[in-house]
Amino acid sequence: MTTLITGGSGLVGRALECVSDEDNVLFLESKKDFKRSESKIGAIYLSSKDGDLRVKSECQRIFDKFQPTHVIHLAARVGGVNANSKYIGDFFYENIVINTNILECAKEFKVEKLVNLLSTCIYPDKIEYPIKAEQLHNGEPHSSNFGYAYAKRMLEVQSRAYNQQYKTNFICLVPNNIYGPFDNFHLEDSHVIPAIIRKVYIASQTGEKVILWGDGSSLREFTLSNDIAKTIWWALDNYNGPIINIGTTEEISIKDAANLICDCFGVDKNIIEWDTSKPVGQLRKTSDKEPFNTLNHGLVPVLFSEGIKYTVNWFLKNKQHIRGFSA
Ligand code: NDP
Repeated sequence: MTTLITGGSGLVGRALECVSDEDNVLFLESKKDFKRSESKIGAIYLSSKDGDLRVKSECQRIFDKFQPTHVIHLAARVGGVNANSKYIGDFFYENIVINTNILECAKEFKVEKLVNLLSTCIYPDKIEYPIKAEQLHNGEPHSSNFGYAYAKRMLEVQSRAYNQQYKTNFICLVPNNIYGPFDNFHLEDSHVIPAIIRKVYIASQTGEKVILWGDGSSLREFTLSNDIAKTIWWALDNYNGPIINIGTTEEISIKDAANLICDCFGVDKNIIEWDTSKPVGQLRKTSDKEPFNTLNHGLVPVLFSEGIKYTVNWFLKNKQHIRGFSA
């Protein structure tokens, strides 16, 4: 059994590598012991240095070299609202071409099972909550990220089509917002949680105000990357059904999340000012986790208040080597 992980150097990829049987206390209060997946032993974690997955021949070279039986496909052009809007064409092209190449290679090389990671931010913008996974194609995504969203939606279409025609076993998991160690902490291109961590850290050093976009009222479900990693390992071994939502069910406003980050750094919440002239993105993205939570996996995500403490501590210990930190 050889599991190939595309995007193995990213936020989720590093979490897949790091989670182990011993970390239940901090990362995940499992109702039963988490058994290390056999597919984790000897797994191969790829980064863009191993080959550019936008190029089909590079993908074929990698599949030929490793002959994977299982694939966890994470590689993607990923970013927050700012990067998604500014580079909307690049986000469409890079993601659709990477995904098409990987699924085509997985089919050609007769991979037994492939796990795709989609995202709640690709769901229709105007929709009833909580969002059910089968509503994925029922309307336009939010205008700020339609390039990324349509490219990612095609992962589900391509997987379904290949499963039907070629009898492959390609599954799609839809996580909500993910944060944790090894995230991208770039000041402009990062997601909301690492961006706030970075800004509050700077404020803690300089005493400057922290300016955040919008008014902080948008609600999000933030899941620690380690919890997503454990879910992926479990799903690789155990889940063969249709597209399914995963992640925490805890919903928190961006303002409350920012206040908790201030607490972690021991700074006054009043250093935050909200710039209401800037876009806020979708107001809610709550997804329906009922189908996943009725499965017998025993996985219970940590509360945001715990996960964020852990992430800020990691940031403080590792900040010299963190992705995006020089920017
Ligand atoms: P990161 O941005 O942290 O990592 C992206 C990974 O993809 C890196 O390993 C990067 O390699 C690799 N990569 C990017 N472009 C290429 C390329 N052209 N060729 C080869 N490798 C490439 O992403 P995350 O870990 O945050 O995301 C993982 C998956 O989870 C993605 O599919 C994303 O859509 C999904 N997701 C993420 C969420 C989040 O909040 N972060 C939320 C919901 C879903 P390198 O390090 O060398 O650049």
